[in-house]
Amino acid sequence: MEIEIATIGGYEAVGRQMTAVRAGEDVVVFDMGLNLSQVLIHDNVETEKMHSLDLIDMGAIPDDRVMSELEGNVKAIVPTHGHLDHIGAISKLAHRYDAPIVATPYTIELVKQRVQSENKFNVDNDLVKMRAGGTMALGDSEQVELEFVNVTHSIIDAINPVVHTPEGSIVYGLDKRMDHDPVIGDPIDMERFREIGREGEGVLCYIEDCTNAGKKGRTPSESVARSHLKDVIHSVEDYDGGIVATTFSSHIARVRSLVEFANDIGRQPVLLGRSMEKYSGTAERLDFVEFPDDLGMYGHRKSVDRTFKRIMKEGKEDYLPIVTGHQGEPRAMLTRMGRGETPYEFDNGDKVMFSARVIPEPTNEGQRYQSERLLKMQGARIYDDIHVSGHLREEGHYEMLNALQPRHVVPAHQSMEGFAPYVDLASNEGYTLGRDLHVTRNGNMITLVE
Ligand SMILES: [Zn+2]
Repeated sequence: MEIEIATIGGYEAVGRQMTAVRAGEDVVVFDMGLNLSQVLIHDNVETEKMHSLDLIDMGAIPDDRVMSELEGNVKAIVPTHGHLDHIGAISKLAHRYDAPIVATPYTIELVKQRVQSENKFNVDNDLVKMRAGGTMALGDSEQVELEFVNVTHSIIDAINPVVHTPEGSIVYGLDKRMDHDPVIGDPIDMERFREIGREGEGVLCYIEDCTNAGKKGRTPSESVARSHLKDVIHSVEDYDGGIVATTFSSHIARVRSLVEFANDIGRQPVLLGRSMEKYSGTAERLDFVEFPDDLGMYGHRKSVDRTFKRIMKEGKEDYLPIVTGHQGEPRAMLTRMGRGETPYEFDNGDKVMFSARVIPEPTNEGQRYQSERLLKMQGARIYDDIHVSGHLREEGHYEMLNALQPRHVVPAHQSMEGFAPYVDLASNEGYTLGRDLHVTRNGNMITLVE
């Protein structure tokens, strides 16, 4: 059976991920993501109204025109998790393919919301839920099967999809860390990865996320970020002024820890900002998390302002607002608070906790700098980096190569510079660049079996 891989997006920079695997007549597409920084760099771009081709030209969504070189039919579009760099282009591209979107329940719900807010295209592909551990036949031959393996990442319900073929398995390894105590959900299913490495023809190809490949050691568990956060929040238990926290809205485990520790120190947590309301509300509705019954979640400007007024009236010392804006995004809640655009007022010594790390990218770094300066000018004290990454470091990569024993490896999710440390570590494991280690670019095709 012929096996080909089209590396469509996310092979020159992080963002706009998209990869297609062809096994004989059957094609599976993994991820259709957005590169948000290519959008934010322009003022006032409303992607909901834009045409795909303009967004492709902007470098915001994958250039999927290479798909026309791939023979066979797309049988499934499989987003691995709900981050925008993996699902953000579905509303712009999925309607071009006569195939269902197959994902875990939380991811499907986020895809549904994304598709509903789209104004230009009518994306009506079937949405099919499949949980981690699930399998489905692709195509009529029954020779090609899709499987979801549970992984741990900075968003709940993340998986690594595997395509089983008569030539061996193709494992799409994007976005995970090895977490054996992830706070919410099950630990990473290393046992299944080891089995996949041993069974049948073994693993033909492993496509891997190189984000932290240059970092030594292993990525700490979410439980480490949780105890760090607990330590920081308990240290200000006796402070009688304002405490505000921010984190990734989609990071439900972290949001839940914040809510819990706010309660511990006798403050009422409240989630503010559109995406805070969206991700946490969705997770609660789907029973992934249980929040206290009286937890307020507000996204609309009016209800947010009303909440801030109530906090100012009743006393900042009784509340802990958990808000959007951890990267200093200009329109996010914390940035607006810094600019004095909300009724919340900071006093000298008030605490602002970033349970996040600045995504190392000039736009984010600049915006975050600006946001912090504005907060400091009002007297706020900044607590930074209460966080662990969602991506594997060096030791995790070694462990995956060991478990899967893949015959070919394709580094992804980085720039050429970012691939370099991964190439080094894969070379240590006996892989050779150009032979079984394939560094590639967006829009290329790799033939594994002719
Ligand atoms: Zn991710």
